[in-house]
Amino acid sequence: MKNYIEDIICARATPIGQSAIAIIRVSGKDSHSVLKKIFKTSKNLTLDNYKSHKAYYGNIYDNNEIIDNVLVLTYKDGASFTNEESFEINCHGSDMVVSLIMKLLLKNGCRLAEGGEFSKRAFLNGKIDLTEAEAIMDIVSSSSIEGIKIANRQLNGILRNEIDSIKVELSNLLANIEVLIDYPEEDLREDYKEFKNRLKTILDNIDILQRDFNRGRAYRDGINSVIIGKTNVGKSTFFNLLLNEDKAIVSPIAGTTRDYIDSIINILGIPVKIFDTAGLRETDNIIEKEGTKRTRELSKKGDIIIYLVDTVTLFLNDDIENIRDIDDKKIIFVINKIDLGQNSEIEDIEKNINDIMKEKGNKYGIVRVSALKKEGFEDFNNKFLELNFGEKTTEREDPIITNERHYNLLQEAKKSIIEIENVNINELDIVAYHIRDALNYIGEITGKVTSYDILNKIFSSFCVGK
Ligand code: GDP
Repeated sequence: MKNYIEDIICARATPIGQSAIAIIRVSGKDSHSVLKKIFKTSKNLTLDNYKSHKAYYGNIYDNNEIIDNVLVLTYKDGASFTNEESFEINCHGSDMVVSLIMKLLLKNGCRLAEGGEFSKRAFLNGKIDLTEAEAIMDIVSSSSIEGIKIANRQLNGILRNEIDSIKVELSNLLANIEVLIDYPEEDLREDYKEFKNRLKTILDNIDILQRDFNRGRAYRDGINSVIIGKTNVGKSTFFNLLLNEDKAIVSPIAGTTRDYIDSIINILGIPVKIFDTAGLRETDNIIEKEGTKRTRELSKKGDIIIYLVDTVTLFLNDDIENIRDIDDKKIIFVINKIDLGQNSEIEDIEKNINDIMKEKGNKYGIVRVSALKKEGFEDFNNKFLELNFGEKTTEREDPIITNERHYNLLQEAKKSIIEIENVNINELDIVAYHIRDALNYIGEITGKVTSYDILNKIFSSFCVGK
């Protein structure tokens, strides 16, 4: 069903600055009426009888003066991203040219689009559902290949299909319950048992969807990790190894890194913002003291701490003190310089770490590396991921929830279904009430039931022109 929004919107779809070309989008009912006033093809024709999905070469005019030589892509009503008559003006990539064309469009009947308004129209006109709109936004803002792949699968409807099948099953169950309400003389017991089994399957399916949420979200948004440890244990060398470049200064002189530096790396598909910090040690040097203080503050921001020790200075009281300062974060212990240590020394370090961590109770893992010899890197990557997200449970093609809105709505739907457990078999109208509630929450994910406020909130996070 089409849901026309009357006004014609326009926006620049490419970023500000010089470029080979820039694109301006125009969309709305009868938007060719605007284009007609400012564009003529190279054969001096207006877009009166244009065909859809064609590129028309010509000029943009302000009265009789040529403003720019452009290519206009055409989409007839019902055949565009927004499902409305739309045009894309490919002009020269100059801010001045774009601004002149935009002014002409605004003067001749367009209004400036709000952030995300093209996608919002695509949704309101039934071209995409909310999960697909959100996937588009994820693709635009994604900083990892894996994030883009997940968003693309979502855009192709893999999440919507899963949500729809949960919805269909809930609707069927609701219909069954309503029959039982209408014919109370039937013996309910057998039917009700079967009904509960089917509800359990729905709960299991929701659990599967939710299981890899943290991993999915990390693919999309990334995580923060802070490298800390005593001075000279090899933090900067390890940081450079993770980055695969010499960004941090490596020096045998303790206390070289006085502040922190950060960079974004990719650990098995997850974008990780990683911080190399000043070493932790007692010192009278004012600058180094400040560095140590900042390290302690920064460690609070990390989703996971990489605590480096080495086989030279071992894991002793000062490390134990440093670890005690870390609150309830996950910690991955990296035993560095294994090229210099004996196996028995490394085992001692591991034992000391295990002893203190038993007391402390945080989730942790231990890996052995030689940052200098580039050994143990793969082990580190695997352990890092496992510690953060546990075992990977979904297969490549499975839908993964990356969006908190979806996760929370599934959670609410689950709560409504669980409520049914406590309802007496004779109170079927209450059972029906909870199923309807669950259906509403599930419907909100794809946007079948969504308030205007929520829509505005979702689409306003999009950029203008999207
Ligand atoms: P930071 O103070 O913790 O950042 O330590 P650095 O990265 O500056 O390293 C201190 C010293 O240890 C430098 O001389 C490094 O070359 C050396 N180093 C770092 N990692 C290793 C390693 O795995 N093996 C050996 N033998 N030396 C290392």
